[in-house]
Amino acid sequence: MPATPAWPPKSLPRLYVATPLGNGARVELDAAQANYLGNVMRLKQGDQLLLFDGMSGEWLAEAAEAARKRMTLSVIQPTKPQEGVPDLWLAFAPVKKGRVDWLVEKAVELGVARLLPVVTQRTIVDKLKLDRMRAHIIEAAEQCGRTALADIDEPVRLDAFLRSVDSARTLYFADESGGEPASSAFKPGPALILTGPEGGFTPDEATAIRALPNARPISLGPRILRAETAALAAVAAWMASAGDWA
Ligand code: SAM
Repeated sequence: MPATPAWPPKSLPRLYVATPLGNGARVELDAAQANYLGNVMRLKQGDQLLLFDGMSGEWLAEAAEAARKRMTLSVIQPTKPQEGVPDLWLAFAPVKKGRVDWLVEKAVELGVARLLPVVTQRTIVDKLKLDRMRAHIIEAAEQCGRTALADIDEPVRLDAFLRSVDSARTLYFADESGGEPASSAFKPGPALILTGPEGGFTPDEATAIRALPNARPISLGPRILRAETAALAAVAAWMASAGDWA
């Protein structure tokens, strides 16, 4: 008899909802979510799924009522506690559309708590659609099993950003001109990684960043990485040495 294939594994659909969850809670889905579950995931009345609201962990639920454009879910029991989010923020100069989407998605998967777009002199992207970024944050959290959503700020100019940085948070400045190797630079405690745009920081900007008392220039190796690669490599290195990969 042929063996039952073990791949792909059967997994329940997983969805972020803005409604607070708890034992016995009922969740009315909006038309877009009802359409996704009913018509894309083919969820029928009585089928189960996983939900999270960003604050109360993950919950098993079932479709109590399923109509064409409407669906009501009934929460059954908790399946996972709320995650402890490592205290890492990522400040990055926005890059072009597809690449910034990728950066945000992967930063969420890697576990960052907050994303801070920073506009520098050589930033070539003049608009960042925050709604679109929030949709990527939700999708990535749904996909990777997170129970918290990363925050994303409105873009700010580098000078304003530098004035706002809390001195109790170490600012790890990804500096391709040299710095402490990322393999040993990261220490426990609140952290903020800053990476530049496609053309890098100007010399004046780099001087202003280094002048902050809590700034620590870090090197991500001998190669010049693309802006989005640098941001994610730095986040991964931080997670491995000071975050929750241990
Ligand atoms: N200045 C460069 C140029 O245009 O020739 C390269 C900028 S690089 C593409 C974009 C950003 O990635 C930099 O501002 C820096 O923050 C980060 N970066 C890239 N490679 C790096 C490395 N080896 N070490 C540290 N940071 C790096």
